[in-house]
Amino acid sequence: MAEFLFRRLTLLGMGLIGSSIARAARAYGGIAEEIVANARPPKTLARVQELGIVDRVEADPARAVAGADCVILCAPVGAFAGLAAAIAPALSPGAILSDVGSTKQSVIRDVGPLVPSGVHFVPAHPLAGTEYSGPDSGFAELFQGRWCLLTPPPGTDAESVANIETLWRRMGSMVDVMEPAHHDRVLAMVSHLPHLLAFTVCGTADDLADETRQQVLQYAASGFRDFTRIAASDPEMWRDVFLNNREALLEMLARFTEDAQAMARAVRWGDTDYIVDKIERGRKIRRSLIELKQE
Ligand code: NAP
Repeated sequence: MAEFLFRRLTLLGMGLIGSSIARAARAYGGIAEEIVANARPPKTLARVQELGIVDRVEADPARAVAGADCVILCAPVGAFAGLAAAIAPALSPGAILSDVGSTKQSVIRDVGPLVPSGVHFVPAHPLAGTEYSGPDSGFAELFQGRWCLLTPPPGTDAESVANIETLWRRMGSMVDVMEPAHHDRVLAMVSHLPHLLAFTVCGTADDLADETRQQVLQYAASGFRDFTRIAASDPEMWRDVFLNNREALLEMLARFTEDAQAMARAVRWGDTDYIVDKIERGRKIRRSLIELKQE
């Protein structure tokens, strides 16, 4: 077995996820002999270089992927089509093209048709993140103990899927393979809807009169504080997630709205059984997350 999984790993986009992959690939070893990074503005590239987390930075995406045997798209999902078009002619035959995008059907729709024959496309999504963004926010341990979901289209080269699985396992993740539409429905519920609610709750609080708003912030109990933490996430990334998982997100939002209306009715009519049942179900879900070590 070769000492390194990849000879040259190229990361396109160097924010929280891209810079965490760079750091993890260095920290855990055996992943890539050389790491090349590309990011949009010169300021980000300069910062990546200063941090010393990659071997080389390249301002041009096509130059960055030349000679790479693994390329990972780490920009917001709305930028993937443009990036894929820019790098397609420069991808090496036999290379693996992967990504970390939070939506999977859109990535397969946008990137799939641009992948040259002989290049193996293995979409992936690490279920790991924080509310911080940019190259300074990454850390090597981000993926430890977290799931990474792979959604390879039917017929994807098995060895390439196995190599991407090994990459994520070496960075500390548990790996599962999932059908893309199923991935998008699950993620709409566990991630995209909670973010939509957090942005909305913070917006509602912000709409209150000045005096009240100050009190909202001054006396922010843990409930509101937790919403503000989630709502601090990167606007561009979340705009792209919402627009690229539109159907599943709207379906989950409709189901949530029905349930919220039912809760409102229970509160109006003093239906204590209903209210207590819902709270107990919430507590049970939290306990099972703790047991699964995913809290
Ligand atoms: P981030 O910290 O905001 O970083 C995004 C990076 O992409 C930045 O380097 C940014 O450059 C670059 N970029 C933005 N638009 C671009 C474009 N049009 N062309 C090329 N590069 C561009 O975001 P992130 O949290 O790392 O997220 C990156 C990807 O990971 C997204 O697809 C997201 O869905 C996915 N993801 C995120 C999380 C999470 O919790 N954050 C978890 C799992 C997966 P600038 O320097 O110009 O900003």
